[in-house]
Amino acid sequence: ASFLLLASRVRADEKRLLDAFERRGMRYEYLDSRTAWSPLHQDARERRLVLNREIGHARALYAARALEAAGHVVVNSAAATDVCGDKWQTSVALRAAGLPTPRTALGLTPEAALEALEAIGYPAVVKPLVGSWGRLVTPVPDRRTAETVMEYIAALPSPQSHIVYAQEMIAKPDRDIRAIVVGGELLGTVHRRGEQWRTNVARGATTEAFEPSADIVKLALAAAEAVGADIAGVDLIEDADGRPLVLEVNDGVEFSGFQRAVGDRVDVADRIAEFLMTRAQS
Ligand code: ADP
Ligand code: ZN
Ligand code: MG
Repeated sequence: ASFLLLASRVRADEKRLLDAFERRGMRYEYLDSRTAWSPLHQDARERRLVLNREIGHARALYAARALEAAGHVVVNSAAATDVCGDKWQTSVALRAAGLPTPRTALGLTPEAALEALEAIGYPAVVKPLVGSWGRLVTPVPDRRTAETVMEYIAALPSPQSHIVYAQEMIAKPDRDIRAIVVGGELLGTVHRRGEQWRTNVARGATTEAFEPSADIVKLALAAAEAVGADIAGVDLIEDADGRPLVLEVNDGVEFSGFQRAVGDRVDVADRIAEFLMTRAQS
């Protein structure tokens, strides 16, 4: 089999992945998504296993769709990328699988979202349907603030931005949890701790490995399965009673912070390479 790594830029994580491919003697090519295009009336000469590392959600999704249409196998699949890239679809999948997740509502307009927020109660959180690194994830302490936030949302140009994802604010400790799952196996869990309320590594949160409870292991594996992601970064938070809830599942997993925290206990890039080799044989 031959492998393809699709990415718009070779960052530190992609470099680690390519090194892992080489160490395992995998035959691979790097495809730069900034110059990639796909013909419709032509199937692939050779079926390939594609690792999709494109960071832009829309481009990652269409890349997966086009490559699958040409007969390739893409990890994560287009279907999983579709669900993970959209917070509402992710929430629906988590609920369908019976997994604990914060109380959430979808407002079809900013006005409707105000009503939804009344029902959820304050403090609440409003998030863009598509987004990452905590961008625009907004704490909404009270109705007065919500009214203004909705005015801002209504002024955004894209129709999709007017669909509002609203969620109860969980009184979490000063940290949350990131779990990485590859091929149905948990590679490990880290606590993310930050000065800020949004504990994304991209916002400067620090990571520290910890031994997960059986509950957290089960939840992380079930969350990855619920969205159909072979490679998943599962975000979990604990509520005031210490009960873990699944917040979201990320399909394009950045693992530098995680790798630093787990040290030489796990090699994430190598486990991904190993998983791709197994998939290529099936
Ligand atoms: P993103 O895809 O941008 O990472 P998240 O839903 O993971 O979006 O939110 C970013 C961060 O904001 C989370 O890691 C968490 O620290 C905080 N956060 C998000 N939703 C909630 C919530 N309902 N209650 C408390 N904190 C939250
Ligand atoms: Zn995310
Ligand atoms: Mg997140």
